[in-house]
Amino acid sequence: MKRDGAEALLRKELGREDNVRVGRLYGKRRPLKAATFSLVLLACLAASLVLVLSLLHARTLELAKARIAASNTAMTLANQASSSFNVADTVLVSLVDKIEADGWNELNVDRLRTLMAKQMAHLPALQGLFVYDETGRWIANSSGRKFDGRNNSDRAYFQYHKHSRDRGVHIGAPIIGRTSGVWVLPVSRRVEHPDGRFAGVALATVRIEFYRRIYEGLDLGPGGQVLMALNDGTLLLRAPFDARELGRDIASSGVFLPQIRQGFATRTTEIEIDGKARIHSHARIGVYPVGITLLQDRDAVLAGWRHAAMFAGLVMLVLVVGLLLLGRRVVRQVALRDLLEGELMSTKANLETANAALSTMAYIDGLTELFNRRYHDLALQREVGRSSRNGASIAMLMLDIDFFKKYNDRYGHQAGDVALKAVAQAIQRGLRRSGDLAARYGGEEFVVILPDTDLAGARECQEPSRTGDQSPAIAHEDAPLGVVTVSVGLCAAVPASADDGPDLVAQADAALYRAKAAGRNCSAS
Ligand code: GH3
Ligand code: MG
Ligand code: MG
Repeated sequence: MKRDGAEALLRKELGREDNVRVGRLYGKRRPLKAATFSLVLLACLAASLVLVLSLLHARTLELAKARIAASNTAMTLANQASSSFNVADTVLVSLVDKIEADGWNELNVDRLRTLMAKQMAHLPALQGLFVYDETGRWIANSSGRKFDGRNNSDRAYFQYHKHSRDRGVHIGAPIIGRTSGVWVLPVSRRVEHPDGRFAGVALATVRIEFYRRIYEGLDLGPGGQVLMALNDGTLLLRAPFDARELGRDIASSGVFLPQIRQGFATRTTEIEIDGKARIHSHARIGVYPVGITLLQDRDAVLAGWRHAAMFAGLVMLVLVVGLLLLGRRVVRQVALRDLLEGELMSTKANLETANAALSTMAYIDGLTELFNRRYHDLALQREVGRSSRNGASIAMLMLDIDFFKKYNDRYGHQAGDVALKAVAQAIQRGLRRSGDLAARYGGEEFVVILPDTDLAGARECQEPSRTGDQSPAIAHEDAPLGVVTVSVGLCAAVPASADDGPDLVAQADAALYRAKAAGRNCSAS
């Protein structure tokens, strides 16, 4: 331990470590502003993301629900139409059977009329039942009235049966009934002679109004449509109703999917017509070459969802703006806190530096820069306590400058101070171990504590402590040797308790006295 040993030792003891630790902690707190800002931003983003995802999910569900509903409705309408056609066809089958069994010549037309009229009473969807011979002449009808002379050979269904040997049921394009004057769908079958020649047509007309009422009663939203069309693309009915559309060929329109021509059963899909997305649901009507198509505007289907989404988005926007404002405040508070904390820290550091300086001043002798008596007392108690616990020997040197009064008298007090300082530095330089501690005991007296040292060790130490490297020697004309010398009293003991410090001092003092008595510039124990 060299010149500034006392101060370095003090700084360590005054807890400089604490400052470092606090400083490090403070350093870690600095990114808090950025962290708070990131956290707020992240919370906003996460909340928005969750909302967007849940809204998209809700949209998918809404569309799926609408598709299922459209598919169910199309199938229900198809089933209903199928049963109407079935009923009409059943009647036709029985009529054709009867006519073919009896033959035109034997046929009792009046009974046939009565039978047809009776059947009509149970069939609300039918407008009428008719039978024509091979020339198209009216033979019988369900109205009970006679229309002699009328001929229906110009009708498409009549021409179809006349030229086709198809014995199945035939559904034709919508026509205006000649007896009723209303729009009807002709459902017809061919009547044959026993030899297979064309013998006429049995016809049931289905009232378009019957379906129209049902279809127009459905709530399909704005732009929604129900279409009944033949598989070749002939439109049989459309709701909302437009008479001009009936019988039109829609095969090339976007509504008519190519698969319909192949008679596929049911299918719901999304298509685009005129740049607008629609839910398109198609169901075939039983075994007939006819299908029901439901069209719904996708935007209309999603209207409810869109309102809910806009509301949720608005609420989220308010929340996010609120959160950002709050976050900004928090960030500012944090920044302010950081600033205040920084100032507090620097104040604390300044205070601690001042404290350390004060403590240094309190424990360091101003003239010699050695520890003062106060610190010596504390250090002695601590070292004696440690030695007593460890059962170790502790030694002490007590040094006193010889004839110093005379030195002052000859050279003056200021020169005395310089000499005193030089001797103190020599003593400090003479210390060998880091645990050794030199202090100014008072006046021109010094004391050295040597922990873990016995008397022999103390003797070894006394010489360098006494002389240091005092070169050149300080001249002292009134001293016997002409230079400043010191006398040393030394002692060593294994202290019994921590309170043995004063004993040690007394022993060293007594030894010093003996050294003085022995002629000075020497040591005694
Ligand atoms: P001895 O050999 O017996 O020790 O004689 P001495 O003159 O050194 O002893 P004494 O105790 O009679 O005188 C001590 C002197 O030390 C008295 C005082 O003037 C001087 N002294 C004490 N402290 C200081 C100091 O801080 N500065 C100076 N210049 N002199 C001091
Ligand atoms: Mg003295
Ligand atoms: Mg003296």
